[in-house]
Amino acid sequence: MKFGGTSVANINRIKNVASIINKNYKKYKLVIVLSAMAGVTNDLQKLIDQIDYPSSKENDLVLTSGEQVTVGLLSMILNKMKIKSIPLLGWQVPIITDSSHEKAKILNINKDNILKYLDENDVVVLAGFQGINTEGKITSIGRGGSDTTAVAIASSLNAERCDIFTDVDGVYSGDPTIVKSAKKIDKFSYEEMLEMSSMGAKVLHTRSVELAMKNNLTLQVLSSLINQEGTFIVNEKKLIEKEVVSGVSYSKDESKITISGIPDKPGIAAKIFRILSRNNINIDMIVQNISQDGISANLTFTVLNKDMKISKNLLEKNSEGILYKQLSTNSEVAKISVIGMGMMSQSGVAEKMFQTLADQKINILAISTSEIKISVLIEEKYTNNAVNSLHSAYRLGINN
Ligand code: ADP
Ligand code: ASP
Ligand code: MG
Repeated sequence: MKFGGTSVANINRIKNVASIINKNYKKYKLVIVLSAMAGVTNDLQKLIDQIDYPSSKENDLVLTSGEQVTVGLLSMILNKMKIKSIPLLGWQVPIITDSSHEKAKILNINKDNILKYLDENDVVVLAGFQGINTEGKITSIGRGGSDTTAVAIASSLNAERCDIFTDVDGVYSGDPTIVKSAKKIDKFSYEEMLEMSSMGAKVLHTRSVELAMKNNLTLQVLSSLINQEGTFIVNEKKLIEKEVVSGVSYSKDESKITISGIPDKPGIAAKIFRILSRNNINIDMIVQNISQDGISANLTFTVLNKDMKISKNLLEKNSEGILYKQLSTNSEVAKISVIGMGMMSQSGVAEKMFQTLADQKINILAISTSEIKISVLIEEKYTNNAVNSLHSAYRLGINN
């Protein structure tokens, strides 16, 4: 069972977590994974920002400290209720990660230790989000990463299921904070959930879905405050009905870069993207078109907001002989995606998306697709309108 920030936001909420554990610990062997209290990791990041410190090694030490507080507090409450528990930090398990601080990958979990602690206690309470690298430095696995800690632990223990308790009672057809008619989905395939998360639905950390899919581990997303079933994320074969479109998601995390007036000849795109990939910058959407003179081309692509400045600098300083007329950037963009397994065998999904946006007079700046997803880049100010219009066009909501 994993409890997110809002589920452990204060002592009353932590007591509520303890009562959920109390109802279940005699039925199941439980490992509990906790986040920091809601807002705490953001506050820690703000403190770091005031120092403007160059190394992310020390950042991780500070950023992961919120989880130490919640596992300690829950363990104290459980022990007072005579539920014998042991609080564990990432390094005590240990959860070994690589050294890419602030986005470390989990390499190994000492599951024998967890099993030993489970034998000796009623429950084990583990800090999410944190690990230790082979040089003994504390690492963090990326913002929102406690979901991934939980799934990694559940997979390593061959758990029956991993329950992710949060502030919504399941995964919805669109972000319930902006789509008023969003509908709760009972069952979702790993593939769809993976696209939803990676396209911006932050209800689950993308890597947690990837890992659950790899290990065929059933996930349930549910509320810690309402006692009812949530959304089950399962293998596609278990789904009877495959919706053509089952969800809409959005992300404001990307920026658009346009390089205009580049020579229209083989190898130019490779050169441009080489400069960025060497610096570990991921490119998402890409559009290339020929400019009016018919000789030169324009290349538009997106990078994460946090990589925008460095990408611009790299392309300006290090253009390796690429001649271009102009380089422009725009962070005021949003990526809107529609996702559904049934899209694989159904035509007309893209047409409906483009027509719906056209009807709202929303211009499309770039497009990308996968087998079960279509994404478009639009001006950020149209996000709410686009998400809600698409949600009704595909009849996803309760009122449609
Ligand atoms: P936690 O702190 O428990 O990890 P998060 O804030 O990370 O919780 O995730 C829950 C939030 O995800 C919800 O409050 C909701 O605003 C957001 N969200 C975005 N898209 C969706 C969606 N399609 N379904 C449900 N929640 C979503
Ligand atoms: N506390 C961390 C964060 O806010 C990890 C998590 O909550 O999943 O990103
Ligand atoms: Mg989360």
